[in-house]
Amino acid sequence: MAICDVTVPDKAASGDAFYGASICSQVYVDYFWPTYRFEGNKSFWTGGFGWEDCCNTDLPLARAFNACYALTYSATDYLNDDYAGACLNWARRYVREHIDNLRAKCANGTYVAYNSGGTVELYSPFFYSKHVPGRAETLLHEARHDALSHNAKFPKGSTFGEGKDGADSNWAYNGAWMYGALYLWWYYAEGARTTSALRELARQRANVVIDGAFAEHPGYSI
Ligand SMILES: [Zn+2]
Repeated sequence: MAICDVTVPDKAASGDAFYGASICSQVYVDYFWPTYRFEGNKSFWTGGFGWEDCCNTDLPLARAFNACYALTYSATDYLNDDYAGACLNWARRYVREHIDNLRAKCANGTYVAYNSGGTVELYSPFFYSKHVPGRAETLLHEARHDALSHNAKFPKGSTFGEGKDGADSNWAYNGAWMYGALYLWWYYAEGARTTSALRELARQRANVVIDGAFAEHPGYSI
């Protein structure tokens, strides 16, 4: 039984079954809880959001932990999170250093997540519409908003809403969409401790971002 009036989608397809087999371990819970700033925000994760049942991948907390696992361990040499390396390596560190509070809520309009001054709220589309690598993308995207906001309107034909605010001007802006797409690209190309099906989903999602989230198309296709 989920929360927020949601029906839990196929957990094999979303990666929640795969990652859920790993996160149900005290050592991971003890690492994720303070590192990704659930700590200090417990009241946002109780009352049906999973705190009382943190291995249950029907619930938001375990589904967030799945994203934390992907974010933390998808590089082969994940202990090297130097910013000189690949995004797959440093994304975990970037999120760690740029999100101060991580909170769950059911909804805020159509937002997937929202960053207000380093406090990031995650909404039901994050937990139940996005697959696990897509959730890791969102964490990195929101972390990037610590430095940069969106600065353009979505282009013609964008699945994010043609003409609406919320796009980045171009790839070189190095904004939240670029960070997310870059992460997914690396996850697809070199992701470890995942499956070929999830890597393919990451590739597809990266292309959706590349095609729809930049006013000026980056010119890439993965
Ligand atoms: Zn954004």
